[in-house]
Amino acid sequence: MFESLSERLGGVFDRLTKQGALSADDVKTAMREVRVALLEADVSLPVARQFIKSVEGKATGAAVTKSVTPGQQVVKIVHDELIKMLAGEEAADALKIDNPPAPILMVGLQGSGKTTTTAKLAKRLKDREGKRVLMASLDTNRPAAMEQLQILGTQIGVDTLPIVKGESAVQIAKRAKQQATLGGYDVYMLDTAGRLHIDEVLMDEVQAVRDVANPRETLLVVDGLTGQDAVNVATEFDEKVGVSGVVLTRMDGDGRGGAALSMRAVTGKPIRFVGLGEKMDALETFEAERIAGRILGMGDIVALVERAQETLEQEQAERMAKRFQKGLFNMNDMKNQLEQMIKMGGMQGVMGMMPGMSKYAKQAEDAGLNDKTITHQIALINSMTKKERANPQILQASRKKRIAAGAGLEVSDLNKLLKMHRQMSDSMKKLSKMGKGGMMKQAMK
Ligand code: GDP
Ligand code: MG
Repeated sequence: MFESLSERLGGVFDRLTKQGALSADDVKTAMREVRVALLEADVSLPVARQFIKSVEGKATGAAVTKSVTPGQQVVKIVHDELIKMLAGEEAADALKIDNPPAPILMVGLQGSGKTTTTAKLAKRLKDREGKRVLMASLDTNRPAAMEQLQILGTQIGVDTLPIVKGESAVQIAKRAKQQATLGGYDVYMLDTAGRLHIDEVLMDEVQAVRDVANPRETLLVVDGLTGQDAVNVATEFDEKVGVSGVVLTRMDGDGRGGAALSMRAVTGKPIRFVGLGEKMDALETFEAERIAGRILGMGDIVALVERAQETLEQEQAERMAKRFQKGLFNMNDMKNQLEQMIKMGGMQGVMGMMPGMSKYAKQAEDAGLNDKTITHQIALINSMTKKERANPQILQASRKKRIAAGAGLEVSDLNKLLKMHRQMSDSMKKLSKMGKGGMMKQAMK
């Protein structure tokens, strides 16, 4: 549905054949694409602008690692900056709930997932931290709202404040506090009434509840599928009630999660949790990396770039590239390739990281290539002499027997390796004819 940022940038950088540093012009062009990607992910315009300003300077003049394309390099820089902006300094999971009973106030628009999140969080506090939690519904507006929380409470084994008809939200809050104190609870959670839009009457009500309860945490629950609106909602709630953290729900849907970046940038409030479904255990602590990947909509190009930077020694890469261009590919080259694959996380690692590579993964697996056979193949190559590695065509029966025995394997294993070498060698020759960048382009198709 969306075009990923790496796909967009692939086009931008096609004309860049020489790899080196990123020029100011290249970065400007790339940033236009980054902007579109952010807006498509529902990041608000001012936030997208601000973000691009901060990343532009960092990208200009940045060196491009030889083993990746400039497009991939830009994605990496953008991604790192996104994580920095999303993560902030505060630990996501650190709710301030010592000094029992600690009140947690849940606020947000109607249908954002407050009641569901209240129960999910209560369950989490009970299961993971052994807290005794009391939940109270302050939703006097919707007829079945209080029962909804009560049912969830029974389901997860968390107490709810008994329902008394006719009470106001403030009265319920007072009773919750009393009960939590008398009953020796560690935490009490106040699930407030929703509103469809920011509405003065309900906002006043939440303020009054806040003043009574004096919450240790006020969590704003926001639907992760909402875009621009999320920022207004967050700003408004923060000004009127004061928000200590954000919970993004419906992150199991196919929205891009740009709301996270917008809210973080505008309110500066940490995103503490994400809701990943309707089930009671579908709540996770916020991970900036995951959301950043989603916003950019890439396979895992970033991880690929990182690992390539870590593992691929530049000289080796250059030397290999030259050899491939000449159509040369002997057993030493093959060994290098196989070792690189292992460093990059094995077959699944390499295939999973490149978008569009999964169809090759199946082919390779059908051909018998997996992490175990890769290790075997390296052992076989290690068992060859220098001369044999340089000219595998000299391998006759007696040599084959010796090599297989040296690696503790069968001659049939060696034959498989030789066959694969021939196939790889053939495709290297073809790819080298297609010119620079051919291999990557082939793989991305
Ligand atoms: P409230 O009006 O803010 O209290 O919202 P509710 O908690 O009643 O949730 C509204 C609907 O959204 C319910 O059907 C929930 O099951 C659903 N919901 C809440 N959180 C999530 C989530 O993280 N993912 C999905 N898919 N649905 C959610
Ligand atoms: Mg509710």
